[in-house]
Amino acid sequence: MATSTALPVDELRSRFRGPIISPQDADYEAASAVWNGSIRRRPALVARCTGTADVTAAVQFASHHHLQVAVRGGAHNIAGNATCDGGLVIDLSMLRSVRVEPSARIAHVGPGCLWGDVDHETQAFGLAVPGGIVSTTGVAGFTVGGGFGHLTRRFGFASDNLIGADVVLVDGRLVRASATENADLFWGIRGGGGNFGVVSAFDFKLHPVGPEVLGGLIFHPAERAPALFRFLRDFLPASSEELTVFTVLRKAPAAPFVPAEFHGHPVIANLIVHSGEAAQAERDVAPLRRFAQPLVDLVMRRPYSAVQALTDASWLPGFENYWRSDYLEEISDGAIDVLANHLASISSPLSDFKIAYLGGAAARMDDDSALSHRTLPILLNINTRWKVGESSAPHLEWTRSLFEGMKPFSAGKVYVNFLMDEGQDRVRAAYGQEKYERLVALKRRYDPDNFFRFNQNIKP
Ligand SMILES: Cc1cc2nc3c(=O)[nH]c(=O)nc-3n(C[C@H](O)[C@H](O)[C@H](O)COP(=O)(O)OP(=O)(O)OC[C@H]3O[C@@H](n4cnc5c(N)ncnc54)[C@H](O)[C@@H]3O)c2cc1C
Repeated sequence: MATSTALPVDELRSRFRGPIISPQDADYEAASAVWNGSIRRRPALVARCTGTADVTAAVQFASHHHLQVAVRGGAHNIAGNATCDGGLVIDLSMLRSVRVEPSARIAHVGPGCLWGDVDHETQAFGLAVPGGIVSTTGVAGFTVGGGFGHLTRRFGFASDNLIGADVVLVDGRLVRASATENADLFWGIRGGGGNFGVVSAFDFKLHPVGPEVLGGLIFHPAERAPALFRFLRDFLPASSEELTVFTVLRKAPAAPFVPAEFHGHPVIANLIVHSGEAAQAERDVAPLRRFAQPLVDLVMRRPYSAVQALTDASWLPGFENYWRSDYLEEISDGAIDVLANHLASISSPLSDFKIAYLGGAAARMDDDSALSHRTLPILLNINTRWKVGESSAPHLEWTRSLFEGMKPFSAGKVYVNFLMDEGQDRVRAAYGQEKYERLVALKRRYDPDNFFRFNQNIKP
C-alpha cells in the first residue's frame, strides 16, 4: 500500500492543475469520504481534476507507480468504490458543467455532475434525460452502470440515452465512444461500469418533460400492504408508460404531512410520477388514488426538478448503510407475506425497502449494450440505514432475514449499481453469462492488466 510521503507527488503536481490532497491536508477527511458512512478508507492521494488533461495525468501517474486507483463521480456508490486504501482517487467532482443544445436536444455533461445539476440546466428548456430518484446521485457511476428513475418506463435507462462519451483509457489516451467510433467500447460503458476507462464527458439525448409533472407520495398504513401489492401487480403491467411507481416500505417520518399518530409506525407508500399531459396524468393516476382512503395523498403538480429532489432529505451522506437487492420474478402471495412481515419488524427508522416497477419502453429498447436484465420489471432494493455509532448487528440481521426470505422469489439476477462488495458470482449475476463473456473480451482489449479494478470488476 502506498503512502503519500513515499510518492513523488511533485511529479504529478507538475502535470496536474487541480488540488492534490494528501493525509496532511485539512480537507483530507472530507475528500476521502464517500456517501456510505460505513466505508472509511484512506487513500494516499485525492487528485481533484479540473479537466481531461488532469484525468490523463492522474491515470498515467498511477499506472507508472502501480497505484490502486478509485474513480469518483458523485461518490454515491454503495460499495464505496469511489475511495480506496493507499491508492489514488481520481476525483471528478469539480467537473460539474452542463451545456444544453436545446434545438438539437443534446446535453453535454461533465463527469462530476449530480443529477440535480443536469435537471436544473435541461429543465430550463423543458427537457430531461432519465436520471435517478435522488438528485444528489452522481451522473457518471449511475450511467456507466445503467441508471433508472422516474422516466425509465417512458425513455429507458440513462445509458440508453447516452449518445457519445469521451473516455480516457488505461494508457492515458483519450478516445471517443459512440455508435460510430469505438462502438465496442460504447457497448461496454453503457452498463459495464468503470471497467474500461474514465469517462471524462457524457453526451445525452434529451426529451421534452415538464416543466411540471404529476408526482408525490401516497401513504397507507402497514396493514394495507398485502392488498396494495395485489392491486399493484394487477394494475401496473398495463398502466401508461408515462407513469412510474416505486413502492416504499418504512417507518413514517415525524413530518408535519403525516398524521401524528402514525409517526414512527410502519407505513407503505407509493412514490408516483406521471410525466405526461396534465389531464391524462390525472386519469392514469386515478386508480392509485381510488384504491383506498390513504393516510395522506401528497401527489400534486410540481416542477419536475422538485420531484427529482423530493426524497433527498432522507438520503443525506454520512450514515451507515447496508443494501441488498435482487430482481424478482413476480410479486407472489408468498413474497407479499415476507415483505409485510419485515415491514412490521423493520429495525431502523432511517431504513426503507422498495419495489421499483420498471419495464415499459425500457424493456423493448435495443438491447445492444452491456446493460442487462431490461426485461425484468420488478426490482427489490433493501436500503438499511442507521446512525454512525449505533450497533450494526440488528440492522444487518433484519436485512439478511428479508433478503434471504425473498430468495425464493428472486430471478437470480441483480442490478449492478445496487451491488455492495458481494463477490464475483454476483457480478456475473448482474450481467448473465453471454454479456459477461463479451465484457471479459472487451476488458482484455481495453484493460488487460485490470488497472481499473476497483469497481464491480470484470476480470480479464
Ligand atoms: C441515495 C442513492 C440513491 C440512488 N438512486 C438510484 C436510482 O434512482 N437509480 C439508480 O439506477 N441508481 C441509484 N443509486 C445507485 C447509483 O446508481 C450508484 O450508487 C452509482 O454508482 C452512483 O454514481 P456516482 O457517480 O455517484 O458514484 P461513485 O461512487 O462516484 O462512482 C461509482 C463507480 O462508478 C465508476 N465511475 C464513476 N465515475 C466514472 C467515470 N467518470 N468513468 C468511468 N467510471 C466511473 C467507478 O467504478 C466508481 O467506483 C442510488 C444511490 C444512492 C446512494
